Amino acid sequence: MAEQPRMPIESGVPDPFQYMHPTLRRNFGQWKYHDRPRPGVLHHVSHNGEEIWTVKAATARQLDVFTMRSLCDIADEYCLGRIRFTMRGNVEFMVTDESQVEPLIKRCEEAGFPVGGTGNSVTMPSHTQGWIHCDIPGSDASGVVKSLMDEIMHEFTHEEMPNRVHITTSCCQINCGGQGDIAINVQHTKPPKINHDLVANVCERPSVVARCPVAAIRPAMVNGRPSLEVDEKKCICCGACFPPCPPMQINDPEHSKVAIWIGGKNSNARSKPMFHKLVAAGIPNNAPRWPEASAIVKKILSTYKETAKDWERVGDWVERIGWKRFFELTELPFTKYHLDNWRGSRHSLNSSAHIRF
Ligand code: SF4
Ligand code: SF4
Repeated sequence: MAEQPRMPIESGVPDPFQYMHPTLRRNFGQWKYHDRPRPGVLHHVSHNGEEIWTVKAATARQLDVFTMRSLCDIADEYCLGRIRFTMRGNVEFMVTDESQVEPLIKRCEEAGFPVGGTGNSVTMPSHTQGWIHCDIPGSDASGVVKSLMDEIMHEFTHEEMPNRVHITTSCCQINCGGQGDIAINVQHTKPPKINHDLVANVCERPSVVARCPVAAIRPAMVNGRPSLEVDEKKCICCGACFPPCPPMQINDPEHSKVAIWIGGKNSNARSKPMFHKLVAAGIPNNAPRWPEASAIVKKILSTYKETAKDWERVGDWVERIGWKRFFELTELPFTKYHLDNWRGSRHSLNSSAHIRF
């Protein structure tokens, strides 16, 4: 018998079809159209006439085993034991009988999972891991989301916004945060304080030096031991040196703040993708409820809801009315921190004779 060639071990994404609801599996790629009978419910119709209703509900995203069991119980009762999660930590239950939709919604809401997040709603904010899982957070992104969503749940369960609003939060300044219609991110405001006693034991100094984006870190001898020093005039307080070298202590209860950015967008639907831009800086990183950050986000959301035209995303709305008008309408202060004074900003500033913000 010919020797079998050695085969690669496939360790990528598992085959999703085995876990799919049978109606979805049968009609994969065969959908004729879909609509939304009410907020939080999608209705798909296949070319062969089969129909399925998907009920989308919010979860706490970081789930304990008891919450997982309650979700699985609902799936067992209504959906042939099938359940799926979205990128933003929503859960989706599918039923093929329209008469099951309302009882399923009632069951989800009674179990504490509000139904919504479709169409022109504020979708479930995406957040990074925060204090539970990661070793470098300056804030707890998941806690910020929880506090905020407690106050704007109506906007999740209703489709009353001009267009969908994606909120993102990031618990450090450098890694996981993405572009959001509204983004709440950490902002360090002071250079790191170096714990020189630990540097030699914990850090590979060349890696830390190489990590700094503005070359502000140099090797140095301190008290006769190898350590590091920071040129504070150059440091942009980004926090990139903290992950490879925890003795570069940049997190600070007073000086690590929260900043709010708006107008980011990944999709190219209707308008091109956009980077988000800073609108509020130096907001207190005030656990456990972050009232100052929540108040600003709520003000931006209500202003957007009142003044944007239909189908304008947050970034499109600001582009149309202008940044000056945005700051007037939201009553947010425009400060020197909003000016892009980074040394590479010649590429991002408008270089015509007409200076605009
Ligand atoms: S945003 Fe930063 S602190 Fe938060 S999970 Fe990502 S790497 Fe960790
Ligand atoms: S905080 Fe950023 S800019 Fe400052 S020293 Fe560390 S890596 Fe460099």
